[in-house]
Amino acid sequence: MSSYPAMLRKPYHRRKVCRFCVDKIQVDYREAALLLPFLSDRAKIIPRRISGNCAKHQRQVTTAIKRARQLALLPYTDVTSE
Ligand SMILES: [Zn+2]
Repeated sequence: MSSYPAMLRKPYHRRKVCRFCVDKIQVDYREAALLLPFLSDRAKIIPRRISGNCAKHQRQVTTAIKRARQLALLPYTDVTSE
C-alpha cells in the first residue's frame, strides 16, 4: 500500500482553460443559463479550481451570480427542497 497524501492528487480535473476567455463570452448577469453551470446542485458558487475560470472571469461570474440572485434569476439555496 502506498501512502501518498491524497491532497496532492487532483480527484478530477476539467479543462484548465477559462471558457469565457476561449469562447470570448461576455459575462452577463441576465444570462442565467450561462451562470447556472457555475452553481453546484446546492446553489453554491463553484470554486475557481474546479470551474477552471481565470481570476478575472471567476470574479465576474461571482458578481454576476450574486446580482442575478437579487433579481431572482438564480436561486440562493437548493431549489429542490421546496
Ligand atoms: Zn477568463
